[in-house]
Amino acid sequence: MSVNKATVAGVEVSTDHWINGKRVSSAKRFTNISPVDGSVLCEVAAGGKAEVDMAVEAARKAFPAWAALGPKGRLPILKKFAEGIRARVNELAAVETMDNGSLLVGNVMRVAPRAAQNIEFFAEWALTLEGHSIDSPEVVNHVHYDPAGVAALITPWNAPLMLTTWKVGPALAAGNTVVVKPPEWAPLTCSLMADIAHAAGVPAGVLNVVQGIGEEAGDALVNHPDVDRISFTGSTDTAKIIGQAAARSITPMSAELGGKSPFIVCADADLDAAAQTVAAQYMNAGQVCLAGTRVMVEKSIEAPFLEKVRGAAAHMVVGDPRDKDTRVGPLIHKEHFERVAGFVERAKADGAVPLWGGNRANFGELYFEPTLFANVDPKLEIAQREVFGPVLTWQSFSDDDEVIALANGTDYGLAGTLFSKNEKRAMAIADKVTAGTLWVNCFFIRDLAAPFGGARSSGIGREGGTWSFDFYSDIKNISVRKGSFA
Ligand code: ADP
Repeated sequence: MSVNKATVAGVEVSTDHWINGKRVSSAKRFTNISPVDGSVLCEVAAGGKAEVDMAVEAARKAFPAWAALGPKGRLPILKKFAEGIRARVNELAAVETMDNGSLLVGNVMRVAPRAAQNIEFFAEWALTLEGHSIDSPEVVNHVHYDPAGVAALITPWNAPLMLTTWKVGPALAAGNTVVVKPPEWAPLTCSLMADIAHAAGVPAGVLNVVQGIGEEAGDALVNHPDVDRISFTGSTDTAKIIGQAAARSITPMSAELGGKSPFIVCADADLDAAAQTVAAQYMNAGQVCLAGTRVMVEKSIEAPFLEKVRGAAAHMVVGDPRDKDTRVGPLIHKEHFERVAGFVERAKADGAVPLWGGNRANFGELYFEPTLFANVDPKLEIAQREVFGPVLTWQSFSDDDEVIALANGTDYGLAGTLFSKNEKRAMAIADKVTAGTLWVNCFFIRDLAAPFGGARSSGIGREGGTWSFDFYSDIKNISVRKGSFA
């Protein structure tokens, strides 16, 4: 057992890998800095090919016994895993906040409980997959969801606990074993998750965590010949690299990627609710792939609606994410701050006009002001590329065809939000907007049973409910001739 640990927000966290039911160290380490205050949190093991090989081998060895348990055998262990997460919600939330700067209140109320749900929900859903058959004239088709094998799970820093459990839950429930590569800018809650899984009785080798840099540990993992599934959440550029590795071995890959989602406000909308929801796009400093960052407002209400958004945005207090009044915390990393600031500077140079914000916030090194750009030509970089910061654009439209074209006018298709009280009109627009998820008169509500993913450059495939099991299983049809058995 290694002794590499850190105490973060009063919680002891291992900074090593978790491989085959043991802590494994690496001589090479990377520095993990908190975006909240710039403090050094710890030095984390930087895995590479050797650690990935060990983890995949352990996962392969553990696979037959875990698969053989079946959904009913796995259920009590996974339920205990979920209970273990619930018992440590406050600790997980506090560590996540220090690690990635996300709002503590949100982590306590929503993110950490959701992590438990992710494990429990899919463990229960797996029971519903047994016993399906399709009757044909000559045969009965028995549909089996066979576990696929070893799943490589790669997650991003903006919501590591939520997104890791969103993959670990269905992958384990379907009978796979997993190797997780957590994000190097926020690696700690995945480490805690491994301890919780172990304490719940998840057998050695079933869940492995290899810490490290994307281009090293992540690259070794997606190129490993004994990986049967790759599930990735992150940037479109990284997905293109991972996709090449997946293509070489024809390994099925699921990818949830970036977005530049439209936020459409019709003149007949509940404007107060819409304005509050526009302002909410600044939460977590806009580091939310689903954020509706392109606000599109019907011309007839443009001026009064802008004032409502201005009022709502004034409540988006920038500050320490541990403070309950804070709505906008820090950007994750200096490198990312420079990236966001670069987008803003280029937007200004391109002629876009900040109606508010546009600068570093008067709080700390990595904090950026909530920003709204007007005078935005749809072709500008600021209207086309994902910023992943508290930066929105404002555009107006005169009719539904115009807003549909505007909404669909990027390479992305992750999500969209639409406010209108006119059902017929709302559903007609929603029908024509290209998106994996389109929220009407609401935002961010995600039922675990519903499909989730992105169209075009925003992703490959869907996860959630049955779709997760379609991905994490080898679906087999046992086609039996009727009356052929003695
Ligand atoms: P972001 O822009 O959100 O940081 P990335 O796509 O770079 O997104 O990172 C998401 C995850 O992908 C992280 O865990 C990162 O370490 C990992 N990653 C980055 N590059 C690679 C790569 N070449 N191969 C595998 N994983 C990678």
